[in-house]
Amino acid sequence: MSTRSGPLSLIAVVMIGAAHANLAQSADELVRVTLTDKATEEDRSIEGRILVEAADGGLLVEDRSRELWTVTPDQLLSRETLAGEFQPFDGEELGRHLLAQHGDEFTLVETEHYAICTSAGAAYSEWVGKLFERLQRAFLDTWQRAGLELHEPQAPLPAIVFRTKQEYAEFAARDAGPQLADAAGYYSIRTNRIVLYDLTSEAGGASSRSANEIERRLRASPENVATIVHEATHQIAFNCGMHTRYADNPMWLLEGIAMYCETPDLRSGSGWKAIGKLNLPRLNRFRRFSEASRRDDSLLSLIVNEDRFRDPESVADAYAESWALTYFLIRNRREEMVAYLKALSSKPRLRWDSAEDRRQEFVDAFGNVSDLEEDFVRFIRRQGRR
Ligand SMILES: [Zn+2]
Repeated sequence: MSTRSGPLSLIAVVMIGAAHANLAQSADELVRVTLTDKATEEDRSIEGRILVEAADGGLLVEDRSRELWTVTPDQLLSRETLAGEFQPFDGEELGRHLLAQHGDEFTLVETEHYAICTSAGAAYSEWVGKLFERLQRAFLDTWQRAGLELHEPQAPLPAIVFRTKQEYAEFAARDAGPQLADAAGYYSIRTNRIVLYDLTSEAGGASSRSANEIERRLRASPENVATIVHEATHQIAFNCGMHTRYADNPMWLLEGIAMYCETPDLRSGSGWKAIGKLNLPRLNRFRRFSEASRRDDSLLSLIVNEDRFRDPESVADAYAESWALTYFLIRNRREEMVAYLKALSSKPRLRWDSAEDRRQEFVDAFGNVSDLEEDFVRFIRRQGRR
């Protein structure tokens, strides 16, 4: 879910089966599903659990690395129940799984909650791991204080960190689409992985040896540190009970939550310090948009569908407005926001709402959109002005 280069390609989930999907009978049953891989036309087996079973026999399967597989009926070759319960990989198993996919120059750096498969060297990978851990703690604390019950991730979270931007870009284009090759990183809802590269490698020369050197080099590009935090926030939010992968999550909300956390902090050595600071790049973008072309029905258009995120002309303004709306709701409608997030977290997977459902869901939580608009505009106008 890219910050600046456009909408996430990853939300474009392959639809399985009929629109009406049913929950699998037992989510913890361990199964082996054999299917024909559409890309390679080869057969492959996945061990995991079935999350959704469609009326036509299509499946949504989560494997032990927590990668999601949509299996259409024509791809499905066989399915068998195995002994034992589904368990996600522990850190060591996940590490082995990632290393097997990425080749000899990669090593594993483990932290308490992350398995980082990396070719970027120990110093950078450990620095990133510390940032992830700090972010995760701050995220859980922030929402706990707001009254939203979240949990620590139930399995280690995977990250891939490439040595250079070029190696990252080649992988990103294959894994997630060419539009992500230019980004500083992304989170894949499908694979549940964050994919990044060593930002200090861009200046050329040897890779950084110490945290101080990394932070000194990164001071030149706080927006790239913001991208790491942004993508890592998406991953945390999808793994601690805030969002459900492949459920109908409004884009403004997913992106708003990530931008609420990403705020660059130039005074902090690491380029990031805390959640919920005023996000000046987004605020300034929103101000320019408001002065130039923002319409009276702007909030409604942001809420009911993803059109503004899909159009390259409007995507940056849609992001800025999503940040502004999220910031406003957390600051001014905290209880309603918590209740809304709670309701969204229990939405079923692979069931897509109509624009009217989306509008109604929002109105049920926050009331009439045009009444909210007035308070929203007034509140945002006051921000950052002394
Ligand atoms: Zn994003």
